[in-house]
Amino acid sequence: MGKLTAFRDQPRRTVPSSEPLVRLSHWNEFHQQVPEQHLRTQGARCMDCGVPFCQSDTGCPIDNLIPEWNELVWEGRWREAIDRLHRTNNFPEFTGRVCPAPCEGACVLGITEAPVTIKNIENAIVDRAFAEGWIVANPPRSRSGHSVAIVGSGPAGLAAADQLNRAGHTVTVYEREDRIGGLLMYGIPNMKLDKEAVVERRVGLLRDEGVRFVTGVEVGVDVDVEQLRRQHDALLLACGATVPRDLEVPGRDLDGIHFAMEFLTANTRSLLDSGLEDGRYLSAKERRVLVIGGGDTGTDCIATSLRHECASVVNFELLERPPGERAADNPWPQWPRVFRVDYGHEEATARDGSDPRRYAVLTKRFLGDGDGRVRGVETVDVRWEQGDGRAALHEVEGSERLWETDMVLLALGFLGPEETLPSALGLDRDRRGNVAASADDCATSLPGVFAAGDCRRGQSLVVWAIHEGRVAAAAIERYLAQQATTQGAVVPASA
Ligand SMILES: Cc1cc2nc3c(=O)[nH]c(=O)nc-3n(C[C@H](O)[C@H](O)[C@H](O)COP(=O)(O)OP(=O)(O)OC[C@H]3O[C@@H](n4cnc5c(N)ncnc54)[C@H](O)[C@@H]3O)c2cc1C
Ligand code: SF4
Repeated sequence: MGKLTAFRDQPRRTVPSSEPLVRLSHWNEFHQQVPEQHLRTQGARCMDCGVPFCQSDTGCPIDNLIPEWNELVWEGRWREAIDRLHRTNNFPEFTGRVCPAPCEGACVLGITEAPVTIKNIENAIVDRAFAEGWIVANPPRSRSGHSVAIVGSGPAGLAAADQLNRAGHTVTVYEREDRIGGLLMYGIPNMKLDKEAVVERRVGLLRDEGVRFVTGVEVGVDVDVEQLRRQHDALLLACGATVPRDLEVPGRDLDGIHFAMEFLTANTRSLLDSGLEDGRYLSAKERRVLVIGGGDTGTDCIATSLRHECASVVNFELLERPPGERAADNPWPQWPRVFRVDYGHEEATARDGSDPRRYAVLTKRFLGDGDGRVRGVETVDVRWEQGDGRAALHEVEGSERLWETDMVLLALGFLGPEETLPSALGLDRDRRGNVAASADDCATSLPGVFAAGDCRRGQSLVVWAIHEGRVAAAAIERYLAQQATTQGAVVPASA
């Protein structure tokens, strides 16, 4: 365990981010480094509670061995800490930067005190390991003779590829974009997760270990998916939940109204291709930006607009402002549904003097300028009332308002995976339109075809995608071993 009384003597101290007004002038990561002693002290706050909720159940979805590496960090045994961390997490440098840290919501210390800074410690372990040169390509010693195709190179596809490749199978990842990473590359902005220094570093390692990446190929369009099935022993769909939820109100077809992902993807691509010199992105410069919808996507739109030097930014949320503390129906160790200030909100407040979020606002219609371009939005305030087990929305009479805007970004979430692949394969779907597959083995209705990540569970989190990629890889291994047995072949040693 950590230092015996550290959880009583030492306050929680998170790793600070760089100053909001300073970081607005660039696209670099806002995460900062702290002295080793800071991290060791924070690791020592882990009190070895005996039943670490942080690493199970409502805590970390990949069961990271949190108390173990907290102790190793406190003792300065960083090399052992990264070995322990890599046992459960293929990509701690991603989760250490972007995970909302459900583990901290479930930390036992959090019942009475501020929880351990688990996410910061995770990030520090992996950053240190890369800096020390401890993380190097480690290709499998032999190959099994089995080949697996993976469609989609987001965290689910990459985690599965890593697991299967380590087991000696030949893995080919097909990605329609020009770069590997899924939403790690073209969703989450560079200031939160650096593309070249962090995402491509890991992709390079996977490549060096033998994973094959094929970019610019849309399976189902450029390559027939049935042909892919015939060429490989198993197929994993990890193609994300990319269909955006629309806002079907009058005026939706006006110019200047965009889905968040059009805005974020083009920005990162242009940033990486040319440092935004090619102009191939939607600029928010001097625009009065309105972001409709919250969550990570809404925050990323706010932060990106601010870096473009937008004139103003406002963010509508349909729900009411969450409470400052856990509500009675949201006890520990559940994920705390409380008011949070994320990096984009902090930046907007620093620049404009107030938080950009407006709660309980319903968009009624968009107004045009007469030339087909959006110039305003009409809204009404709403009130949420508890009905028979679910909250019902009521419009507040007389609360209609007009907001001036010339750029609207829709960040209303995602409806599920695109039709092409599930339809071409004739796969069963669940009632939400996702590919139907059990959470235990990610097996779809078609033998040898598996589905993992957002395309199976709906839009979620990077850590859940990693979890699903690992579950799918284990199931694919069992499937390959079974196939080999029924065909009378030698079972691969890895299975
Ligand atoms: C803007 C934004 C910000 C987010 N921020 C966070 C965050 O801060 N923290 C967090 O934990 N989560 C965040 N998320 C959620 C997280 O990114 C996703 O849950 C996660 O990336 C899902 O991983 P995945 O591998 O299932 O799919 P994805 O990452 O969506 O990857 C799917 C890949 O499949 C490819 N593909 C699809 N169809 C085909 C085809 N037919 N042929 C070839 N390739 C195909 C796509 O191009 C894509 O690259 C965010 C999501 C968004 C949209
Ligand atoms: S992956 Fe997320 S939930 Fe798991 S330990 Fe890291 S920050 Fe916590």
